[in-house]
Amino acid sequence: MTHAAQHAAHTQRVAIVTGAARGIGAAVAKRLAHDGMAVAVVDLHEADCADTVDAIKDSGGTAAAFGSDVDDETAVASAVARIAAELGPPTVLVNNAGIGGPNLGVEETSTRQWDAVVGVSLRGAFFLTRAVTPYMTAAGWGRIVNMSSISALGDAGRVDYASAKAGLIGFTKSLAFQLGGHGITANAIGPGFIVSDMTRVAAQRRGRGFEEHQRIVAQTIPVGRVGRPEDIAHTASYLASPGAGFVTGQIIYVTGGSVY
Ligand code: NAD
Repeated sequence: MTHAAQHAAHTQRVAIVTGAARGIGAAVAKRLAHDGMAVAVVDLHEADCADTVDAIKDSGGTAAAFGSDVDDETAVASAVARIAAELGPPTVLVNNAGIGGPNLGVEETSTRQWDAVVGVSLRGAFFLTRAVTPYMTAAGWGRIVNMSSISALGDAGRVDYASAKAGLIGFTKSLAFQLGGHGITANAIGPGFIVSDMTRVAAQRRGRGFEEHQRIVAQTIPVGRVGRPEDIAHTASYLASPGAGFVTGQIIYVTGGSVY
């Protein structure tokens, strides 16, 4: 172990979770704080992060809010520098921010829509990772977790979203090759149907109430229920843990057994 790695092992780890104002990201942020990390809660606007930060602090954890559009490289670079200065060098990164968009055929998908969806999920993950890996390589230790989706395997309604989420798999596997020698792992999670604002909006688009939509979807899931943000947080906690150091370049589908 290098001197830097020994130092890192004795101080509180700093984790960055993007899109952590609500939904899956909020659950991941709370779980990593519960695991003992200081958590940088990143979302579009600093004020949006207050609920997550307050919940972590109320349960005795350490967290701070940082407003940044993950698809703005200047904003990302400045947010990561502020995180390092205020909380310490980040060595855990969860690239969770993502947007869904309407179910459209390929011919109806506008360039603007494609750029927005791919920009947040895929380019945003690139911007964050590029800004954070110097701290990880200096520490000789790091954990990167990218939020892909079961849609990476193909999605009947969303070529933009499926492409962004499939792109994250190639990104993850490439990072695993490039960074493994520095003690850094990179893995992806592929959630299935998880109760959140994203799936609530999807239900609205189908003209269904959210409860009714969940009941219908649950019937198609082998474990007989829809997923909760905590299901994903549990997987992220494992992948971010010291014990998962021999697991890298993997995508773990957390779907209750659903396959495409
Ligand atoms: P959500 O819409 O509830 O939350 C997404 C969060 O990301 C929001 O807080 C939003 O403000 C933030 N965000 C959006 N654009 C951003 C940007 N440019 N910069 C910073 N933050 C931004 O969604 P969710 O269901 O919690 O999804 C979280 C992640 O999980 C997404 O990447 C999504 O694609 C993925 N996912 C979700 C499901 C599901 O069923 N809910 C399934 C598979 C994958």
